[in-house]
Amino acid sequence: MEITANQLQLVNKQIKRLIDCQNFYGRKLKEAGVDQLASKEDFEKLPFSEKDDLRECYPLGLMACPEEEVVRIHSSSGTTGTPVIIPYTRKDVEDWAIMFKRCYELAGITNKDRIHITPGYGLWTAGIGFQAGCELLGAMAIPMGPGNTEKQLQMMMDLKSTVLCATSSYALLLAEEIAKRGIKDKIHLTKGVIGSERWGEKMRKRIREELGIELYDIYGLTEIYGPGIGVNCKYDTGMHIFDDYLYTEIIDPETGKVLPDGEWGEIVITTLVKEGAPLIRYRTHDLSRIIPGNCPCGRTYPRLDVIAGRSDDMMKIKGVNVFPKQIEEILASFPELSSEYQIRISHLEGKDTMRIYVETNGTVDFLDIARRIAEKVKSRIGFTPLVKVVELGVLPRSEKKSKRVIDERF
Ligand code: ZN
Repeated sequence: MEITANQLQLVNKQIKRLIDCQNFYGRKLKEAGVDQLASKEDFEKLPFSEKDDLRECYPLGLMACPEEEVVRIHSSSGTTGTPVIIPYTRKDVEDWAIMFKRCYELAGITNKDRIHITPGYGLWTAGIGFQAGCELLGAMAIPMGPGNTEKQLQMMMDLKSTVLCATSSYALLLAEEIAKRGIKDKIHLTKGVIGSERWGEKMRKRIREELGIELYDIYGLTEIYGPGIGVNCKYDTGMHIFDDYLYTEIIDPETGKVLPDGEWGEIVITTLVKEGAPLIRYRTHDLSRIIPGNCPCGRTYPRLDVIAGRSDDMMKIKGVNVFPKQIEEILASFPELSSEYQIRISHLEGKDTMRIYVETNGTVDFLDIARRIAEKVKSRIGFTPLVKVVELGVLPRSEKKSKRVIDERF
């Protein structure tokens, strides 16, 4: 994908803003001798921005505008260290809502819909992003937040919610609860807008069938506004990313080289009009690819494929590079299994081992299916895992993003 002249001009404005404000990145760009860019080649020489830099800026070192222009901050997860604080100006907040409104529109949602919002509110960008887009669209927001399944279902029935916003694991949990209670005929959902965590076709299929709804994948991350910077349309050919606000690249996570459209790699995003905390070539560590060609819907926004995992999830086992997605695809070829799985990697007696936990119902011969899965992994990827089969419902379902790969080696 080529950066357009207009996008390049916007990047130049962002660079000027950063250098003038002398924030963390402004100083960095100045030291690197970066000035105005004239071409894609110039752009591709710009240094990447990393989450670790953002942590170093804690608390407000990313601020690229006078403080009186900041109307809000958000923070990304602090579970792996110092949190990251992103300041937003009024325009940033408005731009984000405009993008989110577009996401709902691409999904065919209108001001007649009642949008049931289960992502959390607070420092997170999640809930409030869904809400602001909903209000701008003029639909009715039902700001539930996460948890309390009992109340979720009651409100969903009483208020006749038509759209469910949730992570995929929470949508699955709700779908299972609805099936268990036999209340599907009291549920009025027609669409699901699902957060961008990695999820397989099998899980989609279960949510879609159990709830009888159309599903839309929404993309985003706190560092770049939040959820709502892209979504798939009804043709489901990938997530349209709003290129009037963002420039997206795919790079080889090992070498940093920009990859051609169609090839899988790490998503790198540059903000084009952000004021509070512009980011140049931010490495998301999400793996995807840019889908070449045009969407039948006629929109020209570039499209990203489903998020296939995290570049930090790449596992080296017995010298072989493995992505969770590869294992997931193999598991998906066994119709006897549920959509849930867990991978545990450990180092025992001088050797790396992978244990794969899968779920199935009691009618299947556990030993036989474990053997067949192990053989398929061996033939496709090149090593034999230990496969443990458990009863349906044993593996953890969470309201937050499910952690499916656990590396116990370090
Ligand atoms: Zn489309």
